[in-house]
Parts: sequence; C-alpha cells; structure tokens
Amino acid sequence: MKMSEINEKLLDFLQKSPTCFHAIDEIKKTLIKGGYKELSEASKWNLEKDGRYFTIRNQSSIIAFRVPTTSYIGYMIAAAHSDSPTFKIKENPEIVEQGVIKLNVEKYGGMLCAPWFDRPLSVAGRVVIKQDGKFITKLVMVDRDLLLIPNLAIHMNREANSKASYNAQVDMLPVFGGEDAKGKFMEIVAESVGVKKEDILSHDLYLYTRGRGTVWGAQNEFISAGHLDDLQCAFGSLYGFLGANDSESIPVLAIFDNEEVGSGTKQGADSTFLQDTLERIALSLGKSLEENKQAIASSFMVSADNAHAVHPNHVEKADPINRPKMNQGIVIKYNANQKYTTDAVSAAVFKDICQEVNVPVQTFTNRSDVLGGSTLGNISNAHVSLNTVDIGLAQLAMHSSYETAGAKDTEYLVEALSHFFSLSLKDEGEGTFTLK
Ligand code: ZN
Repeated sequence: MKMSEINEKLLDFLQKSPTCFHAIDEIKKTLIKGGYKELSEASKWNLEKDGRYFTIRNQSSIIAFRVPTTSYIGYMIAAAHSDSPTFKIKENPEIVEQGVIKLNVEKYGGMLCAPWFDRPLSVAGRVVIKQDGKFITKLVMVDRDLLLIPNLAIHMNREANSKASYNAQVDMLPVFGGEDAKGKFMEIVAESVGVKKEDILSHDLYLYTRGRGTVWGAQNEFISAGHLDDLQCAFGSLYGFLGANDSESIPVLAIFDNEEVGSGTKQGADSTFLQDTLERIALSLGKSLEENKQAIASSFMVSADNAHAVHPNHVEKADPINRPKMNQGIVIKYNANQKYTTDAVSAAVFKDICQEVNVPVQTFTNRSDVLGGSTLGNISNAHVSLNTVDIGLAQLAMHSSYETAGAKDTEYLVEALSHFFSLSLKDEGEGTFTLK
C-alpha cells in the first residue's frame, strides 16, 4: 500500500469506528475478508493446521491468530486498544432546562474537555433488546448531527482563556433539542436500529464527534482525526498481521477494550482473555499446559499505544533528549518504574526488527520530574508474562477529540509489524535469544 492509500484507509476505518464496538466490528469484517473464521469462547475449539481464526469478547476486544503448518515455537503478539476517552450517556439522560433538552453524561477516561465544545456531535454504542426469549445486542450509530455542547460566552466567563476549568456535571452536558423533543432521545436511538423504544432494555451509548479526519499540511505531512490513540496502532497492527509471512510461531493480534479506564474488565488487558486464548490454542493443537509455558517463554509482545510527540509550542514539556517527532518512525517507550515494559532485551529485539526493514525508531521517556501515563504492556504481563516492548506512533494532543499524528508513521508500523509477525523468537537461556 502507498502512503496516501494507507492514510485514506485509516481515515475510513476511523470514520466507521466511533466506539470500541464499531472498531472491533470493522476489524472483524476485514479478518473475515482475509479468510478468518470466528471462534466462540462458549464452544469447543477444533483448530486446524494452516487455519485462520479470531475470537471476540464483549464485542469490544478481539484476538486473531494463524496456525502454522508445523508445530510451533511460541507466540508473536501485537496488542493495542479499541477504546478512547469520551462521554457516556447516563441512564434516564434527558434533562429539561430553560426550554431545551440536554443529556446527562459522565466521563469515560481522561479527555481534554475543550475540543468537545461547539462542534456537531452524535451518539453511538450498543443497545440490548429481548426478542423471542433471547437478549440481542445491536450496534448503534446515529449518523447525523444530533448534539452540541455550547461554550459559555467570553462575556460571561472573562477568565475562559486564562483559567479554563470544566466541571463534567455542569459544563459538559450536550444540548439535544427543544422542550418538545422530550422523550425523543431513546426514540431516535431505537429508530436507528429499527426497533421500538420500549424494546430497548439497556444501553452503552457514547458521544462522538462528527466529520471525517483529514490529511493536511504544506506537503500533507499530518493526519488528524478522533481516536488516533489507539486506533492508529490497532489499524497498523491489523495490516501488519495480515501482511506477514508464515513462521515457526503463531502470530497473534490482540485488541483490548478499556485501556482508558485501567483495563480491569472482563475484556480488558487485565482480564484472562489473552491467557485463555493462548491456552486454548495450545490445548486444541495438542500441546500440554507445560508445553504452552515453554512456548510463552519463547514469545514476544509488542504493546502498541500512541506516544507523545514533542509539542512545537511546548518543548519544555519533553525530556531534554528523547523527543519523538512525527514522521520520524516508531517510538520505543522507556520508563524506569516499568510503566512501560521495555527493557534492554526487548528494545534490542525490536530495534533489530525495525532496522531489518529500514523502519526508523526513536525513543520516548518522560521528563524525570513528570509522572507519565500507563498502557497495556505491563498490565497484560501480569497475566501472560513474556518479553514485551512498549511502542507507539508520535502524536500531538493525545486525548483530544481531534488528535494529530504523522502521515508517514502508520506505514512504518505496518512494515515493522509485518516483519515482526513473520519471525520467531527462541529463548536460549541466560539472556540469550535468537530471532529468525
Ligand atoms: Zn492509548
């Protein structure tokens, strides 16, 4: 794929993925096109040599893998996350206030609030209905400009530009309609999935910003859209996974939900999802649990979650030396307290993989007086412990509703990960590893 093609495809994917449920659904569709079969966690797995599979948990996390034709050494895993900070619609959301209906929302994750004001928004997520004695989940995407969170005018808030502060219960409630729109919110949601309002038993609905992302800049250097953290890495990991050659290990693509709220759900990186899946692969292919533990020792994980690029207006916020720049390659993240899993071994292995396919790498560390964020790698390692490197693509305005990254970097990730997924790592003991 050419760079412009990759970016258009990424923008398409982002446009169709206003929530984690939609992102997983899009990944699923792409996998099915590539000949992958869905496995239910609730049924017995009978895996075949050369088979291509995926399994989904909670419609918001997915793990895909390919079975080699011969016995396998280990697992080559890339992980990213499907969720982004947003506002969740609360139960009984309509509030009547001075002739308008507004919606009661609460924060999901830690967003920058300012970019959510004064722009068209809508609602997406899922609803559960009961039909013929079964609970059925339907994905919702009300595909029109439906909501807006109005700013307070400067005349009423003279300190708006010097002391911005946003109260989620006061400032962030979106306006939905006039007084006579009372009762219409769930009606519109129901209509969008072809059911009656009374049929909806429950919902997970979120705000999303309207409009397609863009590639921009003097020479189209930048790409901006919502959800780049972390769907840019999810997308790059997916196409790296699909573009890889067979190796003696099993390539595994794992996209987890709930990273933005600590991963501690049944489908997050702090769940048994990855461990369960790897064990079931091993058992179904005739390996014992003992042999699966050997395989995990000869495995490697790339935990891919976007990284902070140095901000051109705030260079003082970055480490004096390790300052990632957009379009200058994949960022390897380091942290002495192991919020990032990268260590000498995993960094060496990953740098070598990138070098072999001419993909540049750069490094990120926090300033030593700044507490950084956390990500998937070390959380997942508490369940499936293996050599892991934390990486990401450099971006600005992380957790804005409109983020900015380098137009070249997605392609770098695809190239590096297709090479990664084509390799096997062998633990030879005493800190010695081979990669082939
Ligand atoms: Zn992230």
